[in-house]
Amino acid sequence: MAIIVQKFGGTSVGSLERIEAVAEQIIQTKSRGHQVVAVLSAMSGETNRLLDLAHQLDANPSPRELDMLLASGEQVSISLLAMALIKRGYSAVSLLANQIGLRTNNRFNKARIKYIDNTRMLTELQQGHVVIVAGFQGCDDEGNVTTLGRGGSDTSAVAIAASLQAKECQIFTDVDGVYTTDPRIEAQAKKLDQVSFEEMLEMASSGAKVLHSRSVEFAGAHKMPLRVLSSFKSGSGTKINFNEANLTNNPVTAIASQKDEAMLTLFGISNDSLLKKELFLALAEADIEVDMIQQASINHKSNDLIFTLHRNDYLKADEIVNGLIRSNLLDKSCGDDKLVKMSLIGSGIRSNTKVSRQLFECLHENNIELFLISSSEIKISFLVKPQVHDLLVKALHQKFKLDQ
Ligand code: ADP
Ligand code: ASP
Ligand code: MG
Repeated sequence: MAIIVQKFGGTSVGSLERIEAVAEQIIQTKSRGHQVVAVLSAMSGETNRLLDLAHQLDANPSPRELDMLLASGEQVSISLLAMALIKRGYSAVSLLANQIGLRTNNRFNKARIKYIDNTRMLTELQQGHVVIVAGFQGCDDEGNVTTLGRGGSDTSAVAIAASLQAKECQIFTDVDGVYTTDPRIEAQAKKLDQVSFEEMLEMASSGAKVLHSRSVEFAGAHKMPLRVLSSFKSGSGTKINFNEANLTNNPVTAIASQKDEAMLTLFGISNDSLLKKELFLALAEADIEVDMIQQASINHKSNDLIFTLHRNDYLKADEIVNGLIRSNLLDKSCGDDKLVKMSLIGSGIRSNTKVSRQLFECLHENNIELFLISSSEIKISFLVKPQVHDLLVKALHQKFKLDQ
């Protein structure tokens, strides 16, 4: 009997009707002879509602208490799903992260999974129960409740699937697979029947919300078969393929966007190595992740440095930079906390020299200004203003013939 892990996101458990539909879906999988572990998100809107409550009380809530609050959303959905299965005559048990020994480090709000003790889950499965686990949450070594970052239930599901050596981890969501770009922005977006692991990893880490990026990392590390499917309609969804690179002739496979980006520019850096040491140490201590970094030397005496980060960290980073100005390590700085990072992703980019030319053509044709650009083997990322984002997605989608 194989174990299948099925993860249901917020919209998929967004109402009692949806929870009843998920119960039916699990029964179908069981009737095919599988043991099922379901991993759930909170009902749609719930995590945002809790976050909003916290921020009404305190603009900067205690990270520990925030995790205690946010983790409560998943407790509601798992218990309701267990009730729906029990009502139908199936035995089911809902379990919180600490009850399945899902240990994380203690970085509240963005904790990382260290290990999972699968004993309890295996015992429950052997007794014929459907195991229903709260996604998104974990437990640190001191027993504190932690959360894995927004969208983290995908990562819970893949980690649980890996620890149980499941046959497949199925991510059920509100779209029927992974598309060439967010189908809510570009109606011409095409569903991909399969996508290579390396492309999926780049898509997820560049903002394609359909999979939490760490879930793809986990799948890669454990070679866990991963599939994205709709909980609203049947179909085979999108398979994440570990064996082959993408087989299409198109150099670009997908366009992904990361909203909520910010950029800081530091001018007139005299002692470059000291500045970088102080800056990156202070940013790391403040738990601020830096994304793109670029440096320009205007003359041989001083440098300028540009870096990007998440908008939520902008004020903290700006304070750090102001401290460095006061210490005379640089002359001045400027920034913008309302930018979008767009990325063209495709394993064909590495061997195709035309992609950047076509990108710049498209920007020129649409009179769009670009702020910062960086490229890696299979990705080209650049920053734009939010106002031009949707138009540019459509224009690039057409330019790179992603609808064909
Ligand atoms: P869930 O609540 O099920 O975890 P999410 O909202 O986190 O669902 O992710 C699904 C959403 O991801 C879709 O509704 C879609 O708008 C968005 N999305 C962004 N990029 C893509 C893409 N390339 N393919 C499919 N969906 C995408
Ligand atoms: N409920 C959490 C969130 O809204 C986790 C998840 O849905 O994956 O971010
Ligand atoms: Mg999600």
